[in-house]
Amino acid sequence: KTFNEYKLSTDITNALEQLNYTNPTEVQVNVIPVALEKKDIVVKSQTGSGKTASFGIPLCELVEWTENKPQALVLTPTRELAAQVKEDITNIGRYKRIKATAVYGKSPFAKQKLELKQKTHIVVGTPGRVLDHMEKGTLPLERIEYLVIDEADEMLNMGFIDQVEAIINQLPTDRVTMLFSATLPEDIENLTVKYMKNPQHIEI
Ligand code: AMP
Repeated sequence: KTFNEYKLSTDITNALEQLNYTNPTEVQVNVIPVALEKKDIVVKSQTGSGKTASFGIPLCELVEWTENKPQALVLTPTRELAAQVKEDITNIGRYKRIKATAVYGKSPFAKQKLELKQKTHIVVGTPGRVLDHMEKGTLPLERIEYLVIDEADEMLNMGFIDQVEAIINQLPTDRVTMLFSATLPEDIENLTVKYMKNPQHIEI
């Protein structure tokens, strides 16, 4: 398979070409078409499978460039992963001029606040700092249409699941939710039942 069989704009396919992403990985083959149709998805897959691009490509394709407020929120368990996901999304979205902002702890709040005041299409962050911005009113939520919960089982292991739930509860209910996890323990299954709409299950 190639990326040409998806309904992707040339801004995105040109970026993939530059990244030397010639063929979609298995998780990408399964996730991209469903995500482009704006359906909820639960994906059981390991890291290193190309899962970041499996949601990064549809997000970059689907967000409206002209909208100034964030349209997508990606939650990650660690700062390192947040920074990596932001970088990957920036690369995929470079010709569409997609602006991604990373917000995580142990990094100046004020600088992130300033970044969030500028046009930002996609916000990537760790739960604690995302909640912090939500509570201080520095992260507008009213235009959020896409939520990605990355490495959900790690969120659980690190004790972040209540924070993740607190975040979800403040998001518009009319949204698309994608959850990625290497394992699906009961607490994660419960989350998918409680907060997702008829999710398609994909196991790689
Ligand atoms: P991830 O599982 O998202 O951490 O991705 C693992 C690695 O695969 C990263 O270095 C990506 O840049 C790379 N990658 C993702 N998708 C593709 C693709 N379709 N073709 C080649 N490399 C890819």
